[in-house]
Amino acid sequence: MDRSEEEWSRLGAQLPAWVEISREMTAFGRPASYIPELAGAPAHALGIAVMEPSGRIVAAGDCGLRFTMQSISKVFTLLLALMDNGEEGVFRKVGMEPTGDDFNSMLKLELVEPGIPFNPLINAGAIAISSLIAGATPAEKTQRIFAFLRRLAGDDTIVGDEAVYASESATAFRNRSLAYFLKDNRVLEDKDDVEEVLDVYFRHCSALATCRHIARMGLVLALGGVDPATGEQLVPRRFVQIAKTFMFSCGMYNASGEFAIRVGLPAKSGVAGGIMTLVPGRYGIGVVGPALNGKGNSTAGVHLLEKLSREFDWSLF
Ligand code: GLN
Repeated sequence: MDRSEEEWSRLGAQLPAWVEISREMTAFGRPASYIPELAGAPAHALGIAVMEPSGRIVAAGDCGLRFTMQSISKVFTLLLALMDNGEEGVFRKVGMEPTGDDFNSMLKLELVEPGIPFNPLINAGAIAISSLIAGATPAEKTQRIFAFLRRLAGDDTIVGDEAVYASESATAFRNRSLAYFLKDNRVLEDKDDVEEVLDVYFRHCSALATCRHIARMGLVLALGGVDPATGEQLVPRRFVQIAKTFMFSCGMYNASGEFAIRVGLPAKSGVAGGIMTLVPGRYGIGVVGPALNGKGNSTAGVHLLEKLSREFDWSLF
């Protein structure tokens, strides 16, 4: 058995036990409640799926749980915006730096000139990115985003969770403030209706997925934009490189530095408890654990990924 085959079979054999150990970490977090509809998520759930290029999957724990992608979807709107506008078009509206602040912070928008969001993975940045998605109407933009998600997830039934969408839209006072601030700073232009831009953003955040979907999407990124089943280049390699770099530097918000040290892989978390990560060229990984720490990342999910990275020496460094 070669080294990677040995790793794969060890992963399959050990994963259920490792999930149960990490599940104990759910006691140290709780599901997000600022979007009221997310508060009822199963607090002790933890699931994971790992997919390799051949299509084989190892999964364990509550991997059948459906959850909204939330901020994980920002990686894909970034890619779509890059495909629609090119690098120059995107980087006129968002920067390339981590903030060190909370994901929904407004601080640096006012503090640091020229008042564009620091990066596309914080809320302000992702709202700006929503305005860059091509389409005549918010519905058409949303439709294009979902078509893209379905393509990468290999499942054309992916839809949004209406209740989560409505719940977020009704209570998004902070995201509304960010968006109006962006309008004042002229990051959102005259043609950009603030409520319409926000609608696209809330819609893609509500996209429903399982760990398997997230693992497959992560695998496309791990393969530099290539579909593992067809070999087709779905996303230009350069854009995938940009997205993965942002995942590494900003994907876990103001815990990205700690995650880089503990796990050492590009990753993106969402407030429904999902984490998408990948081992370049080898695996896409989807994790869900709705109990979050203070920074908005899954407590048990991060714990499990640290274990795996240590066991198999997955850190990029
Ligand atoms: N929809 C969420 C919000 O805007 C996404 C944030 C997240 O997943 N961290 O607050």
